[in-house]
Order: sequence, then C-alpha cells, then structure tokens
Amino acid sequence: MDKKQAEELKQKLFNKKENGWNSKNEEEKKAIFEYAEGYMQYMNQSKTEREIIANSQKIAEQNGFQNIENYSTLNKGDKVYYNNRGKSMYLAVIGEEPIENGLNIIGAHADSPRLDLKPNPLYEDSEFAYLKTHYYGGIKKYQWTTIPLAIHGVIVKTNGEKVVVNIGENEKDPIFTITDLLPHLAQDQMKKKLAEAIDGEDLNLLIGSMPIDADVSEKVKLNILQILNEKYGIVEKDLLSSEIELVPAMPCRSMGLDYSMIAGYGQDDKICVYASLTALMQIQNPFKTAVCIISDKEEIGSMGNTGMESHEFDTFISEILNKLQVNKPNLLDKVFCHSKMLSADVDAALDPIYANVSERNNASYLGRGIALNKYTGARGKSGASDANAEFVAEVRKIFEDNDIRYQMGELGKVDVGGGGTIAYILANKGIDVIDCGVPVLSMHAPYEVTSKLDLHEAYRAYMAFWNH
Ligand code: MN
Ligand code: MN
Repeated sequence: MDKKQAEELKQKLFNKKENGWNSKNEEEKKAIFEYAEGYMQYMNQSKTEREIIANSQKIAEQNGFQNIENYSTLNKGDKVYYNNRGKSMYLAVIGEEPIENGLNIIGAHADSPRLDLKPNPLYEDSEFAYLKTHYYGGIKKYQWTTIPLAIHGVIVKTNGEKVVVNIGENEKDPIFTITDLLPHLAQDQMKKKLAEAIDGEDLNLLIGSMPIDADVSEKVKLNILQILNEKYGIVEKDLLSSEIELVPAMPCRSMGLDYSMIAGYGQDDKICVYASLTALMQIQNPFKTAVCIISDKEEIGSMGNTGMESHEFDTFISEILNKLQVNKPNLLDKVFCHSKMLSADVDAALDPIYANVSERNNASYLGRGIALNKYTGARGKSGASDANAEFVAEVRKIFEDNDIRYQMGELGKVDVGGGGTIAYILANKGIDVIDCGVPVLSMHAPYEVTSKLDLHEAYRAYMAFWNH
C-alpha cells in the first residue's frame, strides 16, 4: 500500500477527533456567537434554581406554553408545563404518535453548588455582623473566600407573604465577601491540606460593621436587623423560614481574546437547561411527545419533592395521559419502558494543566462538540447507569444525520473519576438514558468555563433528538 492509499484508508477507518471550529463557516460562527449572547443574558438573570424556573416559565409562556392545569383535554401539538414549587419544572409538546409508544425526554438540573444560609445565620463578633452558611453541593471551600458574593433567595413570613431577596447584582448594590487570612500570618494554614485549609464553620459572610447609635449590646447586629426590617419588614425569626443562597456576584461573560469561551457561575447545569429549553421552544408537532425536565437538588443527590427522585414527574406524565383521555392501568410504566432520554448534564473537560487525572483517548475536550457519557461511574463503573449499545447507536445516528459535532468520554481516569447525574433515576423507570451535555473547565468553581461552540452544538443536538 502506498502512502496515499494508507492516508485514504486512515480517513475512512479512523474516528477522527477534531476541533469543532474547523468545521464551521463564517455564517455558522455568527450563529454560535449570537446564541451565546442570549445564554449569557439568561444566566445573568438566573443564578438560583428559583430564578431559573421563573425565567424559564416566562420564556415558555412567550412561546405558547400553558400551565397543564389550564387544559381539560390535550391534543397533538399542545404545549404544556408543570411548575413544581417554583424550583423544578417539566414541559411537554404533545406528539403525533400514540403516547404509549414512548416519550423523547431531555433532562437537566437548575441547582448549582453555592453557600446556603443556616437557619439561625446572623451573629455579631468583634463589632462585625456575619451570616453563617452551610455549603450546598461539592465545593472546594477555599475558592469561595475573597470573592464578591450576592445574596439571592426568599424569606417567607408566617402570614404566607414571600419576600424576594436579590442584593449584589446591580452595580449600585453592595456585595459581600468571606475573608481569608493574609499570607504573612498564614504559616500554619498554608501547611494544611487544601481540603482542610478552610473550615466549613469559617465560611461566614461579612455583612456589616456599623453600630447602631444606642447604649445596648450587639449594636452592629441590631443595625443590620433594623436595615432588614426597614427594607423587607422582617424580624430575625423570619430567617428561620427562608431559603437564602450566596452566589458569586460576577456576571457571565465572554472569555478569551477570540471570544470563543464563556466564563460564568453555575454553568453546571444551567448551560444544559438553556440549551434544552431553547431547543424545545423550536419544536412544533413532534412525532413523539417531547418532554423537557428542569430538575432541582441534583447537586445533593436529587432527593426531596423538587429533586428527580420525587414522584412529581410521574404525576405530570400521568396528568398528560389523563388529559389525552388514554390512561389505563399500568400505562405510565409502559410509556416509560418505551421512552428515550438524554440526561443533559455537563461533562468534565480535559484541562491540560491537570491532564494527569484524565485519559486522553477517553476525555472530553472543550470545542469538540456535545459530550456523551455512556456511563459516569468509576472504579469498576460503580453506581453507573450504563447506556445500552443499541440506544447509543440510535443517538449517534441522530447526531450524524444532523451533522452535530459530538464526542464520547469518561469522567476522569478509571481509578480517579466518577460523578452522578439524574440518568440512573430515569433509567430505573425503564427509560433508555444516556448522559449528554456540555464539557466544562473548573466545574463547581465559582467561575466555570465552557466553549460557545459546544453550547450551540448542544442546542442543535437537543433539537435533533426531539425532531427525529
Ligand atoms: Mn451537573
Ligand atoms: Mn455538578
């Protein structure tokens, strides 16, 4: 065989792993950059799961979706949503085919790692007022000190009144921060392991230093409570029934001199929420019923009535079966057994600086398109929902027919990696599921990095899945 023949054979037989940008013309690049602008705007208005759900409902309503409660019966082409306590949400576009033949589901999660306030957060120490926190999800604690933080959430009074709090995003707002020790005095701290350098109990948010002008104890705390009382009409006890989250006060922005990337908080997994939600908005009269899940509590194990383990999703699908007037015993189980799903969650991209935790042949790369994970477990695939080869082939065909750039990898080396998603929960119902999302650098850090190309490929991939 001569060299030319060998090159041709290689072209034919090798799985080429190429940078996705090379395959895009100027017009396509323009579409990629424009789409990213919409994403960054959405991100800057949606830092918590509650904000994601509120803004997603708005987008859905603008595109003709209605609360399923508004329908007494459902028909082909109808667009419905189900808002679960303002923290998770399910949407559907009713398909042409009988629903017992299954659904095409895409599911992402709206919650991201952050610092939550403790139930009794406010205290004064040495004439500083602080809020005590309990971190949510897997964080590297040292990353959350000395960065600007914003306060987002709700305080619910016993009369049912809900106060919405959002301080630190507007330029005129104050921001907050958690202090750290100066290097000059940190000799002991610097000798500790990274995981132990910052104690969870020391993640206390500094929120005030000015005493009230009176002869009482805890003057700074009293001043803060007076400010909160004037602003929101609350007393300290009302914080017992609040859900307040501290999130980075940094906006989501273009990154790199070439503008090719995006830096922002909470891209795990809001990037897949945005890609799937905006894809669903483009779906008209699909063959199979298209279902979109925006889940909560994924970062802490998907428990609770807003997490994916809740039966609330089954209730939504049952409600669709009822309103299509086709429901009968065991139909829900049958529908699930015939359903297919993309678990839209981010993937750990290979970071060249820390390449030793990845295996290059089976790592996902920024800029090579949407990333599939056949399974997510490590050390013997422990706990993994391993997608069936038949289903993987179906997904490959959809992507290849639609010229979607995709890659398939594992989350880290065999003895190192692993990570959970909602995939197994839906797979347990009998659904064929594969993890399929956007690769991320610095996952779970206050500022995560993604590629605009991968975001747009995810959007195109999700559209293709629902349209096939
Ligand atoms: Mn995730
Ligand atoms: Mn995560």
